[in-house]
Amino acid sequence: MQESKFVYVAGFGVDKRLLLSVSKNIKEVFGLEVRFSQISMPPKYGYNEERDQYHAGTLLEYISKVYYPHMLKLVAILSYDLYENGLNFIFGLAKLGGGHALVSTYRLWDTDERLFFERVSKEVNHELGHTFGLLHCKNPGCVMNFSNSLYEVDLKGRFFCERCRSLLKY
Ligand SMILES: [Zn+2]
Ligand SMILES: [Zn+2]
Repeated sequence: MQESKFVYVAGFGVDKRLLLSVSKNIKEVFGLEVRFSQISMPPKYGYNEERDQYHAGTLLEYISKVYYPHMLKLVAILSYDLYENGLNFIFGLAKLGGGHALVSTYRLWDTDERLFFERVSKEVNHELGHTFGLLHCKNPGCVMNFSNSLYEVDLKGRFFCERCRSLLKY
């Protein structure tokens, strides 16, 4: 019998309904089961005072120490504004082929809740794609297309293109 593995979704300062929506999306797009968890980070961990932002690499390293039973991947969804060196901001971060991903809701927010939740799902799927070894995709509709702006997030879909999907299966 094959042991089931779970994608853990951990929220940090975000709405529970958002987590439910993202979890439904993960089941639909990846066909994987989801469990909810919580992470607690020390106050102001990774905070850069001059930039008034959080350093994504530092936070990813922190959550990378977290493991849960039967965990396949862990994606942490935070309300923090994230940056990486050389970039003004980033929507999320994951190590290629790693077990952990980070997504920020900060710049994805909209008064239209459906749109907001969908944007977060896109970035979650994108970062999870990286954890499954996928690189950026040139196909503009594919979720693995790199987004540098909200405009680009809205242009792409929540799903993987055929090519990325076959790599994902592999
Ligand atoms: Zn990416
Ligand atoms: Zn693709």
